[in-house]
Amino acid sequence: MKRYDVIKKIVQSLDDEIIICNLGAPSRELYNIKDRNENFYMLGSMGLVSSISFGVAISKPNKRVICIDGDGSLLMNLGSLCTIANNHPQNLTVITIDNSSYGSTGDQKTYTSNKTNLEVIAKGAGFESIIVIKKVEDIIPRLKNLGVGCHFVLIKVDPGNAQVENVPLLPEELKERFMKVISRE
Ligand SMILES: [Mg+2]
Repeated sequence: MKRYDVIKKIVQSLDDEIIICNLGAPSRELYNIKDRNENFYMLGSMGLVSSISFGVAISKPNKRVICIDGDGSLLMNLGSLCTIANNHPQNLTVITIDNSSYGSTGDQKTYTSNKTNLEVIAKGAGFESIIVIKKVEDIIPRLKNLGVGCHFVLIKVDPGNAQVENVPLLPEELKERFMKVISRE
């Protein structure tokens, strides 16, 4: 299973949730699978997608927020997991698609290819709901059954990026449309 297949299933499992997506290849893949006003594509600030998702979740408690993170990104901001777990917003799901590599910079291996285990780290950070999904056919049913809560979902995949086009939106356009969506009650 590749990240592209996972993102496709995530999108199919959603209704009107906000998605905040890790920068680079994951955002390009999400854009090409299904662009929607509820999608926010990170265009910089590697590592901060979980922090930004957390901020949106606590400031908009009536919206459901899905964070799509990657292993390389999460590894450079592990403290964010502690912040999220201790504040446990009931409307946030952090999905980490772990391909054991820095996919957007040439597939250099990350430490999850060796000894590091993000499921154990999430547990240690204090997450009470941790879901590990191993089969592509399990993604939709598992995500649909999550319900309210603060969830950490780990999906291990093979390295590799889909050959898709860049996100053509200007940062300003992206910001404006996203602000509109989150300011709607
Ligand atoms: Mg990765």
